[in-house]
Amino acid sequence: MTFPKRIAIVGAGIAGLSAGIYARMNGFDVTIFEMGHKAGGVCASWERDGYAVNGSIHWLVGSAPGTDLYDMWRQLGVIEGNAFYNHSRFIEYRDVDGVDVHFYVNPAKLRLHLLTISPDDGEAIDEFIHAIETIAENHIPLDTAFELLNPWDWTKILARNFSSLMAMGKYSRISVNAFADKFKSSVLRQVFQRFWSGEMAMTFFLMQLAYASKGTAGYPLGGSGKFIAKLEERYRALGGKLLFGQRVVRIPTAEERVLGVETEDGRQHAADYVIAACDGHTALFHMLPEGYVDDRLRQAYQSLRPFPALAYFSAGVARTFDEVAPSIVGLNVPLVEPVMVGARRHDRATFQIYNFDPTLAPAGKTLITAMLETDFESWHELYDQDPAAYREARERICRSLARNLDACFPGVGKALDFTDLATPLTYHNWTGNYRGSYEGWLPTPEAMQTRLPSHLQRLKNFYMAGHWVTPGGGMPPAAYSGRDAIQLICRAERRHFDTEVP
Ligand SMILES: Cc1cc2nc3c(=O)[nH]c(=O)nc-3n(C[C@H](O)[C@H](O)[C@H](O)COP(=O)(O)OP(=O)(O)OC[C@H]3O[C@@H](n4cnc5c(N)ncnc54)[C@H](O)[C@@H]3O)c2cc1C
Repeated sequence: MTFPKRIAIVGAGIAGLSAGIYARMNGFDVTIFEMGHKAGGVCASWERDGYAVNGSIHWLVGSAPGTDLYDMWRQLGVIEGNAFYNHSRFIEYRDVDGVDVHFYVNPAKLRLHLLTISPDDGEAIDEFIHAIETIAENHIPLDTAFELLNPWDWTKILARNFSSLMAMGKYSRISVNAFADKFKSSVLRQVFQRFWSGEMAMTFFLMQLAYASKGTAGYPLGGSGKFIAKLEERYRALGGKLLFGQRVVRIPTAEERVLGVETEDGRQHAADYVIAACDGHTALFHMLPEGYVDDRLRQAYQSLRPFPALAYFSAGVARTFDEVAPSIVGLNVPLVEPVMVGARRHDRATFQIYNFDPTLAPAGKTLITAMLETDFESWHELYDQDPAAYREARERICRSLARNLDACFPGVGKALDFTDLATPLTYHNWTGNYRGSYEGWLPTPEAMQTRLPSHLQRLKNFYMAGHWVTPGGGMPPAAYSGRDAIQLICRAERRHFDTEVP
């Protein structure tokens, strides 16, 4: 094979764009095949009545100097020209059994506040705060694919990060729900259980708080739309090719080596390397011929659970919300009118009120969104059996959430410019993600112990990137898994891996 070698990337989400950018920095001839008509995947944004709906980013880990992730984001071109909003609170809870809970990102302030709520829980609160501070001290390198680290590198990492690695190990075996049980106060138990999915490993929760406490989890003003536009711009400026409306259906192989990709229109596109930066199930079990997935990987795909499917509510409101303290995740409130979303009943919801990002709404107006966990099956069945009932279910949930918002903020119901609901089917159809998962595998204690390989022993020149190879998902793992694939390809080509900042 001669240089430049051709790399075909499936998917223009964050992982695919990152792989493409690093591939171009290293001189490869790259084409990204994207089935949709827009880049970004689940990190989506869309226009509605003059509002820019932010479909993903709440926080970007690595938004400030001092971590390898920051260097990566700079190389990817999303730091320069972006302004970041650093929240002082992670989430706000209103009226949990009559108590308001402010989840401050400053651990000392958070400790004092939690102690005020429950002085009897000193031991559990101190353990929690100590774990955040210990994990925040970690300097685990995230600039090199783990496969490229040698035993000496690992020894240095272990010596330098002994305490934080021990804490991560300990809390990766405990779910958030199990940790919540340590509290005597039912308010604190509820707050922990409701923070996100309670089945997640505690480590995952602690790491988010640790990064936030270091001030390196800022929100990029402009949200997902501006962020993806900058990534795409960087890729194109480096000379990368991006083809929209090109669904890859097969990855042909011969003699245990990939030959390129085949798109839905039957065309074959030859390539020396293929990076599947799309849904893992589709890549492994539908695009590749049988025989390449070993039992261990097959077993992982059968036993691990994806993130619960998501219904994503958005609303444009013709007023400002200066009275609401902004937080990374949003304002969690009791619903005066509980709402069924698919098979799940919600008696509380977290509304993200974008009063800290005026670029998402016309002057004097505010975008509001809410992430509501649901199931995939009931939405799928409803649409199959009765598309009109599916549309009615979406409208019913929007009306109900609007009434709930109005109960929290009197007058909002009359000030609504629009409401909308993306369902798990929307996610599935838009991005192809398995069962509409919006962030890959749920980081349960089991998932935290499972390594999902980014390449296969039996197939040469095939790599995977994105939230299906990094349990817990999120933008940083999507981006560094794309970069890691290029580092591994550079090693295979015996080329030095180069980076540059625009
Ligand atoms: C509401 C919400 C909030 C979130 N908040 C945050 C946050 O605050 N911080 C954070 O770090 N992360 C957050 N995330 C998660 C983060 O956005 C994702 O983990 C990340 O964007 C995943 O990127 P990806 O490239 O791995 O996958 P995807 O975004 O799924 O990209 C895959 C791409 O492949 C394409 N594709 C699929 N199949 C094919 C095919 N056959 N042929 C061609 N193309 C194909 C898809 O169209 C898609 O563009 C959030 C996600 C959501 C939905």
